[in-house]
Amino acid sequence: MTGRFANIIVDISHENVDRPFQYIIPEEMRERLCVGNAVMIPFGKGNKLIKGYVIEITDTAQYDEGKLKKIESIAEGAISARSDAIRLAYWIKQNYGSTMIAALKTVLPVKQKLKQRVEKTICCLTDADEARRLSDEFEKKHQKAKARLMRELSVSSELPQSIVTGKLNVTAQTIRSLEQAGHIEVKQESVYRTPIPKGAAEGHRNGGVKILSERQSAIVDDIMNDFKAGARRTYLLHGVTGSGKTEVYMELIARVIAEGKQAIVLIPEIALTYQTLMRFYARFGERVSVMNSRLSQGERSDQFERAEKGETDIMIGPRSALFTPFERLGLVIIDEEHEPSYKSDSMPKYHAREVAEELCRIKGASLLLGSATPSLEAYYRAQNGSIKLYELNERLAGGELAKVYVEDLRRELREGNRSIFSRRLHALIGDRLKKGEQSMIFLNRRGYAGFVSCRACGYVAKCPHCDVSLSEHANKYNGTSILKCHYCGYETQQIKACPKCGSKYISGFRAGTQQIEELLHKLFPAARVLRMDADTTRSKDSYEQILSKFANEEADILVGTQMIVKGHDFAKVTLVGILAADMSLNAGDYRAGERTFQLLTQAAGRAGRSALAGEVVIQTYQPEHYAVTHAAKQDYKGFYEEEMSYRSLMHYPPAAHMMAVLVMSADELEAKRRAAELADAARARLSSWKLSVIGPSQAAVGRINDIYRIVFYIKHSEYGALVEIKDMLENIIACKGWGKESVQLDFNPMNTY
Ligand code: ADP
Ligand code: ZN
Ligand code: ZN
Repeated sequence: MTGRFANIIVDISHENVDRPFQYIIPEEMRERLCVGNAVMIPFGKGNKLIKGYVIEITDTAQYDEGKLKKIESIAEGAISARSDAIRLAYWIKQNYGSTMIAALKTVLPVKQKLKQRVEKTICCLTDADEARRLSDEFEKKHQKAKARLMRELSVSSELPQSIVTGKLNVTAQTIRSLEQAGHIEVKQESVYRTPIPKGAAEGHRNGGVKILSERQSAIVDDIMNDFKAGARRTYLLHGVTGSGKTEVYMELIARVIAEGKQAIVLIPEIALTYQTLMRFYARFGERVSVMNSRLSQGERSDQFERAEKGETDIMIGPRSALFTPFERLGLVIIDEEHEPSYKSDSMPKYHAREVAEELCRIKGASLLLGSATPSLEAYYRAQNGSIKLYELNERLAGGELAKVYVEDLRRELREGNRSIFSRRLHALIGDRLKKGEQSMIFLNRRGYAGFVSCRACGYVAKCPHCDVSLSEHANKYNGTSILKCHYCGYETQQIKACPKCGSKYISGFRAGTQQIEELLHKLFPAARVLRMDADTTRSKDSYEQILSKFANEEADILVGTQMIVKGHDFAKVTLVGILAADMSLNAGDYRAGERTFQLLTQAAGRAGRSALAGEVVIQTYQPEHYAVTHAAKQDYKGFYEEEMSYRSLMHYPPAAHMMAVLVMSADELEAKRRAAELADAARARLSSWKLSVIGPSQAAVGRINDIYRIVFYIKHSEYGALVEIKDMLENIIACKGWGKESVQLDFNPMNTY
């Protein structure tokens, strides 16, 4: 990186990351200076020397060159965690497209000048007998509150002030009066805000350590051999749920910590249950830190501060935990790496897996990915050798894989069953109720956006150009609807009769968890049914509450959306019913098959987690679809091969790379004009490069809050080529002075626009 000017920020700890200032890089510094370096610069009128960080090196002067000052020196011994974070932000900006400021805000923990939380404790200064005597004395004088507090203190000599003022209903004035009389003392202690339940981590160390199986040990040893030899790589651990992946993670962490390093563990928020966390606390005690979206800014900031000071060794959390400022990072683990929540849905739209790889490169750390159903991206790279693959094939805590039935809903209709439940599922639910075992009914709602299918033959209306399903869009002006392709904009009239079999039962699929709950009540009046979906989990903790009710066997059947397929293990669940298994196949994007396979495999994995044998019923209109057939056999490899040949044929990721460009404007014509201009500019490169541009067309959701959305896609076999196109588009956007909010870029998108 050489250039004559450096853009420098002087305060990165503030929420509104300061605007950059430009300085001249002295001749002799040009070879050495890198993005992320801390430098000393003359600042302000008095040219006071202050520290700043280089965020960009460029050849373009922002102002008249004669007015720029020179960098004084490179600051030695600056906090490297910070320089590393800036380097990472720069990489994010380069590879996903965003402003440097937006990238910095993503990467740098927002520091807030918050007051430290102070915890007050009321301590008894007398012994228990004296406290009891005082209590009786106050009682006689009708000083009820004082009597109450002293009696309580005679039982336990220290009480949190919050309990005293709350539960005991003693006023601050009473406390002061007792303090002045010398009976009690109020101790103050400033504490870090932490989401760890009080007492959970105390006194623990090395709890619950398992002796690893031969296979587990071999994996840990192999990774540690690389580690000790100084080789840093990316590894993929492919193993069904319950095969012992988490034990492998914990052993690796223990060994990496023993080498004086620190570790980050990413777990999707929804799987970050109390049970999982307790396993980490039991083993690593207070050296564990946790992050989740329910934390307050203060808690978040405290966690990062402790990490920066080296007071913790392990951070567990969702995507954003990746940016924990560990100085000695040695290992990053991403559990369930296939989860779409690892992709940021706001700019910069980075993927945690890719950013983790770059972070590990900068820090000299190892990266371990784990999944029962690896993403196509990870497995593809494992196949071509750039990721090292390990497999764990057996379930450790007992429990055979469940027996899976695929029920063809077309046949059900043909044979006169119009119910949501197939005859087999109906019979099996009844059987479980009789035996006192539990069932889970999972409604696959992904891709609900109105795909159209024939209930008689399973035909799905598809785009003739893109090989994705069409979506039904209602035209509210005349009551009709049209079918639309989200990728290329192809449109056709709503179909009245199935073009394949002529049936009139062709329409969008509609059924919700509530209807299913009602139907279960009707069919099985004695059954106790719990429902879990977006509606029933709105309030704080309701998610865990429903799960623990079910775990305590306070219900026979749990009905829910994808939420129920993750997290807890239920020993008594021996039946899993999957309704509308193919719904997600019709989500209208190229990842639909992958998502469906993952959901079905996970859902099926819920049955038979203990000694009791499990059964799974998959209900579908497309029993022959490879995502369904391979999920039924729990055959990842088979699925991968078929899915990969589809991606290769269509040049979809990971066979090629794809960038979505979303253009937004309150003015529809303006949005279209801009999108066309950008798409044309990209197409102009077509002659020299092997790339294709699809669109522009209206986005699937064509307007949000009165902002029109137009999208186009660019595909190329090289990621770097897309980055060059991105740079070119960003230049156009900057020259035209379009607002920075008006164009969003998304590399290898997880969804359609
Ligand atoms: P995964 O992360 O793949 O779902 P876990 O690590 O949670 O698997 O292991 C599943 C169950 O098997 C857990 O109850 C765990 O305690 C147990 N387990 C894992 N490894 C061992 C082992 N080596 N010895 C005994 N039990 C084990
Ligand atoms: Zn049909
Ligand atoms: Zn199309």
